[in-house]
Amino acid sequence: MTENVIVIGSGPAGLTAALYTARANLNPLLISGNEFGGQIALTNEVENYPGFPDGITGPELTELMKQQAEKFGARLEVDHVSKVNLQTHPFTLETENGAHYQAKSLIIATGASPRRLGVPGELELTGRGVSYCATCDGFFFRGKEIAVVGGGDSALQEGLFLTRFASRVHIVHRRNALRAQPILQARARENPKINFVWDSIVEEIKGNGSVNALQLVNVRTGAKSELPVQGLFVYIGHIPNTQLFVGQLDMDEEGYLKVDERLHTKIPGVFAAGEAHDHIFKQAVVSAGFGCMAAMEAEKFLATLEHEGYPTPEKAFA
Ligand code: NAP
Repeated sequence: MTENVIVIGSGPAGLTAALYTARANLNPLLISGNEFGGQIALTNEVENYPGFPDGITGPELTELMKQQAEKFGARLEVDHVSKVNLQTHPFTLETENGAHYQAKSLIIATGASPRRLGVPGELELTGRGVSYCATCDGFFFRGKEIAVVGGGDSALQEGLFLTRFASRVHIVHRRNALRAQPILQARARENPKINFVWDSIVEEIKGNGSVNALQLVNVRTGAKSELPVQGLFVYIGHIPNTQLFVGQLDMDEEGYLKVDERLHTKIPGVFAAGEAHDHIFKQAVVSAGFGCMAAMEAEKFLATLEHEGYPTPEKAFA
């Protein structure tokens, strides 16, 4: 069977694309990736998604979006796409579970993953004190002293969340000015459990089996110091999950997919939605909007395909 539309990814972009294509009667298939829900599902408190004046947790929001897409007939598979071929139409996909699919159109909503520090100790101590998800691991640090690296919204939002568990949260930032929104900055500065370590980077994560200290360097003075902590949460931005498309789709030097204003990639019938291409806004609500746009464009593409066939290269790039 050739699918009308396959959506890859299950964050707000993917689930919204599935909802819209389902309501357009396209019987979409969504392949979720290994972790259902993407980044938002790992966020504890979502305060700025419209419609939830009291806030909602990321997992709850994901569950509601999933239910809404399924209600209109979207089929959701928990699997990871390992290979795609966009050079032939219908496009072909293979998954880690060994499934093979064909699709007339594709919506890439693969999102982004946390950026790693790339310092000694990080790899060995991941899951042993080093974490990229406060919602998942915060509980393990009850009464402990921990650090968060980063100065953006994620570092502050998750740092604040971690004060519920930890005795002290050191926010280590490479500059002396924060990138985060003023509301989060104010909350963090007012929180007695939060201590800012300015102008500093982590040079090494120390520990034998579990984290016990960070080797820090002050980037202004060059002075080195050791910060004794039992946990480290890394929030230094994200890398788009677009490896799968290297050599087949155009991307910028950071790996974000290149799309036009209607979210078309250079291959007719292949659309991108969310943080796989959006290097500017990176908000759940924006990603959901992109999912809607990509779904509407996929619908138009399929209608044209039915009447005119797959565009020849001359027509496609005219
Ligand atoms: P971000 O805004 O890109 O911030 C990354 C932070 O990490 C920056 O402070 C950056 O420092 C620092 N950094 C980057 N590379 C580093 C390195 N190698 N070593 C040390 N520090 C490093 O990332 P984010 O906080 O994950 O946010 C991503 C997007 O999601 C943003 O658009 C944000 O607004 C959004 N977001 C929104 C909310 C919300 O609305 N509540 C919550 C979370 C995230 P510099 O400042 O010096 O560059």
